[in-house]
Amino acid sequence: MKCDFYQLANPGVRDLTPYEPGKPIDELERELGISGSIKLASNENPLGAGALAIEAARSALSELSRYPDGAGFRLKAALARKFDLDQSRIVLGAGSSDLLRLAVEAFVCAGDQVVMSQYAFAMYAIYAQAAQAERVIVPARDWGHDLDAMAAAVTERTRLLFIANPNNPTGTWVKQTELVRLLKRLPAHVMVVLDEAYAEYIDQADYPNGMALGLEFPNLIVMRTFSKAYGLAALRVGYAIADPAVADLMNRIREPFNVNSIAQAAAEAALADEVHLQRSKAVNQQGLMQLQRAVAQLGLEAIPSVGNFIAIDMGREALPIYEALLRKGLIVRPLAGYGMPNHLRVTAATESENSRFIKALQEVLEAV
Ligand SMILES: *Cc1c(COP(=O)(O)O)cnc(C)c1O
Repeated sequence: MKCDFYQLANPGVRDLTPYEPGKPIDELERELGISGSIKLASNENPLGAGALAIEAARSALSELSRYPDGAGFRLKAALARKFDLDQSRIVLGAGSSDLLRLAVEAFVCAGDQVVMSQYAFAMYAIYAQAAQAERVIVPARDWGHDLDAMAAAVTERTRLLFIANPNNPTGTWVKQTELVRLLKRLPAHVMVVLDEAYAEYIDQADYPNGMALGLEFPNLIVMRTFSKAYGLAALRVGYAIADPAVADLMNRIREPFNVNSIAQAAAEAALADEVHLQRSKAVNQQGLMQLQRAVAQLGLEAIPSVGNFIAIDMGREALPIYEALLRKGLIVRPLAGYGMPNHLRVTAATESENSRFIKALQEVLEAV
């Protein structure tokens, strides 16, 4: 007898469209039989990991047969020192994706509402749907989160509200005053996830201090990752800062060894490597400016971004441009899945990589 497993499945999972990651370089080169491609599709650090993190990862290899420290003591202690907070407020995750899932699992039941913005990072809707929650998607304002409208969308049934600051894929960001206004307005039964995956890149004076706000508003969960500015995407490590009770709840459902020992060691070293972080920020600033100049020269427009990427409006359907760029060995990110069919998201990389992208884009645009 044949079983229809899709009928058996949790309806939240059955109807799910999975997350589509940036195309890996290996996959493209296998498909096209080319080499020397570059990937500007996943907002990875173009400088790679810092030397201190690599060295720490290498040292950790000698303990491969041992389970990791499930409590992540050393990394948590380093984070607690850096942000001057108690370790009981920290949850470690296998990337912030893991933490996003833990927050949904800990607070959202089937039928609850989860509020998020149009164009927000795709994982929010995926985790909410898997939990059989109702997704309340609030129209964006100028491509960014409209926090007043999001606050107005909250009901008795809302349990969680997602804010990506800055947002991926748009690069838009919310300011301190807007965020505080939202937090003051929210009823106590709504948890707020403030996803700060790109926070280290940002120097704007009115960029909110999520860590400080967390002390004032206990329903705020701040999430950060080592995948972006710290250049450790392969290792899968991130952290959440929350009220101790919230952290305790998230830790209860965390897979006991969710962050492996190599990741813990490398993250601890990366946190102390201010030189690599500053160099990464400088390269990103240069790269963003180079891309913005080129976009203007090509007569295109991009959404102003404070992340390490920009979403460029091609003024026409972007998928054929994406495909033509692939054939030239350049991987960027199409955004049709986000309801942005004319945009491509491009990670700011090194000067020479950016130049290759700009030249290829120019050639593709001339050919169409
Ligand atoms: C990249 C990204 C993440 C998650 O990255 P991890 O590698 O899982 O830490 C989370 N939120 C946003 C907005 C991102 O862009």
